[in-house]
Amino acid sequence: MIRFDGVTKQFPDGTTAVDRLDLEIVEGAFTVFVGPSGCGKTTSMRMINRMIAPSSGRIEVDGRDVASVDAVALRRGIGYVIQSAGLLPHRTVVDNVATVPVLTGTSRRQARREAMAVLERVGLDASLATRYPAQLSGGQQQRVGVARALAADPPILLMDEPFSAVDPVVREDLQNEMLRLQADLEKTIVFVTHDIDEAVRLGDRIAVFGTGGVLQQYDTPDRVLSSPATDFVASFVGRDRGYRGLSFRDGSSVPLHPLSTTRAEAATEVRLEPSEWVLVVDEADRPRGWMDVTGLEGVRAGHSIDESTAAGGSLFPEGGDLRQALDAAISSPSGIGVAVRRD
Ligand code: ADP
Ligand code: MG
Repeated sequence: MIRFDGVTKQFPDGTTAVDRLDLEIVEGAFTVFVGPSGCGKTTSMRMINRMIAPSSGRIEVDGRDVASVDAVALRRGIGYVIQSAGLLPHRTVVDNVATVPVLTGTSRRQARREAMAVLERVGLDASLATRYPAQLSGGQQQRVGVARALAADPPILLMDEPFSAVDPVVREDLQNEMLRLQADLEKTIVFVTHDIDEAVRLGDRIAVFGTGGVLQQYDTPDRVLSSPATDFVASFVGRDRGYRGLSFRDGSSVPLHPLSTTRAEAATEVRLEPSEWVLVVDEADRPRGWMDVTGLEGVRAGHSIDESTAAGGSLFPEGGDLRQALDAAISSPSGIGVAVRRD
């Protein structure tokens, strides 16, 4: 549906924002571009709707090279939501949402009626429809921004850090709304964020970008967490998720122990159940991967990790065997950290 084929973007000042990107975005999927600031996420996204032209390589939408299609027609099929919501300050909420349909020939009355329906879809109370953007909270403005992008019913929705500026509680509401919307609408969504938790929460597929605009890994959230493809991904995922405890698939977590502490501080008991996963982390706190401990000798169902077993003395060797590493972690007195999650 959206395909990057060897796409590089170099700005005139010599900055390489995106470096030989190959990526295929699946139709109907929720795809997240994630990575630290300045790694080329926005630039990559803006090349999809031709707001930025690649220096080399090719981008296809629906099998057609975007460079050779009419930009207005292209953008009609691609909604775009940004962090500041980008609302027109002198138009009411409902008219902001109705703008594009009116521009493309829908009668104002009809467009407003449809706008009200879309506002309801994104969870905005109808009583706010006649307000101006400045009279709304940040979270409400974002809902209007999403509604405005959806009003033209585009098959593709691009969202660039849409929720980064709203507070965490509202952000969670908005994320839930997005998941619900995607399930309902079956749109192809490309979502940019610098927050790995948000990426994991929302994405069917995650593209992790690194320094210099190099794609590091393109995978399911589980695979990104369980098998980071590069040290960059491992540290990005590890640092940002703060894997220092039990982390469960439902999103809850229980603090375990700082990885560099002594055995005495590692006394929190962890009970391993069948089909659990253990995260093995090296001495620099870099996650080396999750491993299924089911059936692993030395770790049995109900086996508990306490101060005598939680920490290991040897480093997990680069490219080494996780099973051996875990064995070492469990049998030796200090050093390696382990965290557990339920499958
Ligand atoms: P992200 O969205 O991941 O934070 P961007 O795609 O905005 O990153 O930027 C990637 C890199 O390209 C950064 O180093 C940024 O400074 C640079 N960049 C972005 N836009 C321009 C521009 N118009 N001219 C020069 N450099 C740019
Ligand atoms: Mg950006």
